[in-house]
Amino acid sequence: SHLVNQIAAGEVVERPASVAKELIENSLDAECTRVEIDVERGGIKRLRVRDDGRGIPPDQLVLALSRHATSKVADLSDLEAVATLGFRGEALPSIASVSRLRLISRSRDAPTALEVTVGSDGVLEEPRPAAHPPGTSVDVQDLFYNTPARRKFLRTEKTEFGHLEQVVRRIALARPEIAFQLRHDGRTLYDLPAAADAAGQRARLETLLGTPFAEQALTLDEEAVDLRLWGWVVRPAFSRSQADQQFFYVNGRMVRDKLVSHAVRQSFSDLLHHGRHPAYVLFLELPARTVDCNVHPSKHEVRFREGRQVHDFIFRVLQRRLSAGVL
Ligand code: ADP
Ligand code: MG
Repeated sequence: SHLVNQIAAGEVVERPASVAKELIENSLDAECTRVEIDVERGGIKRLRVRDDGRGIPPDQLVLALSRHATSKVADLSDLEAVATLGFRGEALPSIASVSRLRLISRSRDAPTALEVTVGSDGVLEEPRPAAHPPGTSVDVQDLFYNTPARRKFLRTEKTEFGHLEQVVRRIALARPEIAFQLRHDGRTLYDLPAAADAAGQRARLETLLGTPFAEQALTLDEEAVDLRLWGWVVRPAFSRSQADQQFFYVNGRMVRDKLVSHAVRQSFSDLLHHGRHPAYVLFLELPARTVDCNVHPSKHEVRFREGRQVHDFIFRVLQRRLSAGVL
């Protein structure tokens, strides 16, 4: 089972950034209002995610770390199932199998927090009482210490941290009502309060994407039957290089989708001078039944039932907004 977890981990635990993504998403699933992310050495040495969410009941703490052992995968013959199911319900055990992981959690009605450590070879230590406010901390140390082949694929600490920071930006842009703090080697990069209104959201945009973006961003919000597109776009003629300033969300989930990119690019096409990139933070909302978000979870692709309509809607709304007052 330890080996199975390690192989499953290979599917999605690619680098510190992917660990951060899974842990932060767990915090959001737990309805937290605040997430603190503490990183040492690009996340390779240490990555701790702490939240004030609903916590894990004492009798479920061990279960959260041992999904494979309890049900889904009994032996190596089930590996194929792991590969096709992907990562669902496997994040914690997978991460634990390739790191030294400590989980501390206190559910709101529990008298005390419980702590459990995963030792080498995936052996769980007996849970013991710990001091922790209601919520959960997951402390991941020495990522890939026991899988040297995979550790070799990690880049410099700076590069790894860059990826991790991008994950935090992606999530923080989409969840303005949640407070986020990101620290790296003792330095605070972001300390984002929960944004209560449009002004708060704009302040967050400025912190995460810089003053030029926030100052030049045009807001938009348009609806058609079953479709809504809202957010911010920057006319490329007025902005710096923005290869990393493109965020598109479908029903709150960040995507990198061919159809979407094509529609966006096309709407910007008259404005794109050589070497310029469009910059945007856009949210597309449509009924869940008209979009399949599980096509390729790690590649962020989606499949729209009415692809043509979605494409044309994005194109039309953006083109209209970008050309207003320019021609
Ligand atoms: P999944 O999120 O797909 O259920 P995970 O391995 O990521 O699988 O997490 C296993 C379980 O552990 C979750 O379903 C949840 O019950 C619990 N859990 C993990 N992280 C947290 C957290 N931060 N707060 C509360 N519960 C958590
Ligand atoms: Mg999860």
